[in-house]
Amino acid sequence: MDPLALAIKKRASRQFWFFWILPIAVIGGWRFPILGYFLPFCMIAGMGIAIFKGRYWCDWLCPRGSSWDLLLSRISLKRNIPLLFRSLKFRIFIMMVLMTVLVTQLPRVWPSIDGMGGVFVMMLTVTTVVGIVLGIQTHHRNWCTYCPVGTMGNWLGRGRYPLTISSKCNECKKCDTVCPIQIKRWQYRLENGKAVIIPEWDCLKCGLCIEACPQKALAFKEMSNVKARNSNA
Ligand code: SF4
Ligand code: SF4
Repeated sequence: MDPLALAIKKRASRQFWFFWILPIAVIGGWRFPILGYFLPFCMIAGMGIAIFKGRYWCDWLCPRGSSWDLLLSRISLKRNIPLLFRSLKFRIFIMMVLMTVLVTQLPRVWPSIDGMGGVFVMMLTVTTVVGIVLGIQTHHRNWCTYCPVGTMGNWLGRGRYPLTISSKCNECKKCDTVCPIQIKRWQYRLENGKAVIIPEWDCLKCGLCIEACPQKALAFKEMSNVKARNSNA
């Protein structure tokens, strides 16, 4: 089996185990609100991992991301994700909306464990429906471009475990076909023979582009505190 096919297969079988958590939390949560605590767990875990490895959580561990890849990708129209969803203003807007829901609804049910779980279940349900609808219309990872955990991961994980590109890249764009978050790596290629860091902090660290590249032009730099030379939202 070629390396890319093997990487995709391994990724799918890994995601299969995490995938189940989302439907259990969203559907089961309406009967057992305690399941809603899955939401704050994901927020804390995603941001904690981002400090060391960027948005690694979003590809390798996030149950929602696994659902998007395993199921939603089969019915998504797989168009380009509109720039609006990637914009900093939109991402902050989504974050503010969800934070407002939390700070207005949680005090209302405090200190009921089930009550607070119910608020989390409601948020999980609404965001999952939004992710499914927009994921079908655009790209199955559409939600990941403005998910607040991903946005925080982008900010907290800048410079961590970055992807590099070397001058071996011939801009064939084969890597474009596999990237779940639609990053255009080849635009950072330099002609001077050096490998440079790709300053795209929404990279999910899936490694699919590395496997897909026929020139072996892409690689992950070891975990480091390299400062972003450029910034992106
Ligand atoms: S697949 Fe490799 S050679 Fe082709 S555009 Fe991407 S990085 Fe460049
Ligand atoms: S840039 Fe490469 S490693 Fe990062 S999300 Fe896209 S395909 Fe995965």
